[in-house]
Amino acid sequence: MDLKNKTVTVIGLGNSGMNAVSLLCGLGARVRGTDAKDSARLRDSIKGLEKRGAAFELGRHTEEFIKESDLVVLSPGVEDSSPALRWALKHKIPVVSELELGYRFCKGRIIAITGTNGKSTVTTLIGEILKKGGKDTVVCGNIGNSLCGEIPRIKKDTWVVIEVSSFQLERIEKFRPQIAAILNVTDDHLDRYKAFGDYFNEKMKIFANQDKGDFLILNHDAANLRPLKDKARSRVLWYSKSEKMNGAYVKSGAIVYAVPGKEEEACKAAEIPLKGVHNLENVLASALVASLAGVSGRSMSGTIRGFKGLPHRCEPVATIGGVDYIDDSKGTTVDSTYRALESFERPVILIAGGKDKKSDYRAIRDLVGEKVKRLILIGEAKEKIRSQLGGAVDVSEAGSMEDAVEAARKSARPGDIVLLSPMCSSFDMFRDYKHRGDAFREAVMAVRETAGRG
Ligand code: ADP
Repeated sequence: MDLKNKTVTVIGLGNSGMNAVSLLCGLGARVRGTDAKDSARLRDSIKGLEKRGAAFELGRHTEEFIKESDLVVLSPGVEDSSPALRWALKHKIPVVSELELGYRFCKGRIIAITGTNGKSTVTTLIGEILKKGGKDTVVCGNIGNSLCGEIPRIKKDTWVVIEVSSFQLERIEKFRPQIAAILNVTDDHLDRYKAFGDYFNEKMKIFANQDKGDFLILNHDAANLRPLKDKARSRVLWYSKSEKMNGAYVKSGAIVYAVPGKEEEACKAAEIPLKGVHNLENVLASALVASLAGVSGRSMSGTIRGFKGLPHRCEPVATIGGVDYIDDSKGTTVDSTYRALESFERPVILIAGGKDKKSDYRAIRDLVGEKVKRLILIGEAKEKIRSQLGGAVDVSEAGSMEDAVEAARKSARPGDIVLLSPMCSSFDMFRDYKHRGDAFREAVMAVRETAGRG
């Protein structure tokens, strides 16, 4: 792709969009950036790029600004309904995603991870295993730093581990990872996609351009992924907790992978510090991918044993008066909360709610009835969750995170678990899931202080 002297417009100026602008400036393109929002921070961050020749339109989009472009690059946050995108399509301008742009200039070997849940955990763990296994490694994508921003650092023998969301797979063209993994596809983002099938189809694009020499890693325990085998041109390898597969599996309590033909042990299942069967799946996927990148079982076992997981994913915050407080603020889908609950043997006081994503909470009703002794609801989705789960469990409501944690403390007895796992996004009350998790931690620390005084 030669973009020298071509007019390229980037729509959406978050981290991905800004990195795309910067990459394009370096390629000699005439670069424009536009964002419907305007802020002092954004104005500040474009200054350096303006000096490099880029032009910007902030606080609005206009047809004039977009219509002369040779190419439009779309940030993952931009929705189909955006007028900027509609004008680009009306003027028949080719539109690609930021991921596609980065791909076209990426010299390294690509490992791409997608799924509804577990992407960040698996992407990070693979990155750690590869780095400690002596491989030159870049970890990027949906996890924070976009691919476009990493391009200058990537060499031919660099392993580029990319967390890919369905939004980023919209409008790829040639994106072709040497190793792709799909961890699971369950209900999510039904506020953005018309139907589950549309969301599923976006995820499948991760292997659409793969060929015979590439690998597709699939979770055999996720029944809806099994038919994908017939759709892939690449070599499919599986992982499973319960069955011996051509790929990775559990054998006599050990995580084992067999590719191709040789069987090697990555670690003992009991040595995995992360709780829950979902993390067993995450380790199986990571070990299998890392083995394909040439890391030995001996090398990866230490990394897996030392991996403490990421913040806000079932993260222990404190134990106060025999009660464990756990922050799973990143549990923004019904399935992730299901997996969190499944991994606890003790009674749970669950704090949930936030901004609904058109989810069906009835899927968790039986498990909530079995494991949760009190459900404390916050945020916009309160009424909907109460109507779908009420009757299965004692339900109360709280107006703030502080009140929710205080109510949880009052109900908790030694040996109980207080779990924040919202099943919803955070944007009704918080900036993002991190802000929500931090608010939980602060409230828990206040409980600890009071307990210390009492
Ligand atoms: P993602 O990047 O896909 O959102 P994360 O690793 O950040 O995934 O985890 C998000 C949430 O999903 C957390 O609540 C975590 O405990 C849960 N989770 C992690 N791995 C899995 C999995 N394999 N299946 C289901 N839930 C998972």
